[in-house]
Amino acid sequence: MLASKLSHIICVIGLITGVNGKLDKPLIKPSIPPLDAALFKNLKTTQWTKSQWEWGWIPDRCRDVANAHKLNPYDIEVFNVQYTDCADIWIMCRHHEAEVSQDQMADIFGRLPVRMRDYVRLSIAFPGRGSRSAYTYSDLGDNIYFGDIQNHPTLWAHEIGHTLDINAVTKGQDFSASPRWIAAYNQDQAISDDYAQTNQAENFAQETVIALFDKVVPGGIGTVEPNWNAIFHQYATAQDALGDNIIPGGRCRNRFPNAGIVCMGPAAPCGKKRNAVAPFNVTLSDEVSEIPVIAGRDRKTPHSVVGAWTPSQ
Ligand SMILES: [Zn+2]
Repeated sequence: MLASKLSHIICVIGLITGVNGKLDKPLIKPSIPPLDAALFKNLKTTQWTKSQWEWGWIPDRCRDVANAHKLNPYDIEVFNVQYTDCADIWIMCRHHEAEVSQDQMADIFGRLPVRMRDYVRLSIAFPGRGSRSAYTYSDLGDNIYFGDIQNHPTLWAHEIGHTLDINAVTKGQDFSASPRWIAAYNQDQAISDDYAQTNQAENFAQETVIALFDKVVPGGIGTVEPNWNAIFHQYATAQDALGDNIIPGGRCRNRFPNAGIVCMGPAAPCGKKRNAVAPFNVTLSDEVSEIPVIAGRDRKTPHSVVGAWTPSQ
């Protein structure tokens, strides 16, 4: 319904991997209908509490992406969300004109399996002004969303799928570029949709959504796609590779180290003090293992892997 107004952010995949060729397998028929409503209904939210940061302090990535999108870092709300299934908080950033509220961000993120959330460092919401889209810095699990994303768990799962692709299976290699993934793709007759045709990284991220749907919604993907067999090897391989990361329940076990904290700028209280030190402890608890940040893919090369996806009609 909104597709005509949706903007796509160009995916820049392959600067490192070299696997950005468009895929020519035919689209599955009939096309897969929107998966959001059933996913939303069957993913139960996790209880959470929220605490807002004192104005002025901001994760460096939130400041940097705000500046990159010509948004003012002073307009970003920063808050911690503490879920009952993890000792560690998640930090979120929201531009004050974003269509999604802080509570909606906490709610929908909490619906995703905690072991998927494990691979997210920052969730960042900006105004979409009539469009809905997202991209990810998949090396560090920073997801940037635009628009009314609160009812679209597929968008969140897709973006996290990019980070899982790099960090959760082959650890530092793109699983979507592995012989195992390519073999699964080659065994199938079709591909899930036209966005998945962009390249294998987008295909894997789309299949992450389908793999999650198939595990979470009673009856699985066959309830909405009679020709599921045409993509079976892809989503079944995603399920096998991702294991319990896409199964709800349990507790957190991995996290990226949190982002650096900086002052928004000279107009904030922290900007007036020399050598101001952020009054927050964002080190990880003993409950989680730190996901190693891969050298050469740190935030200094932020566009090494960027993926975007907008839901289809
Ligand atoms: Zn993507």
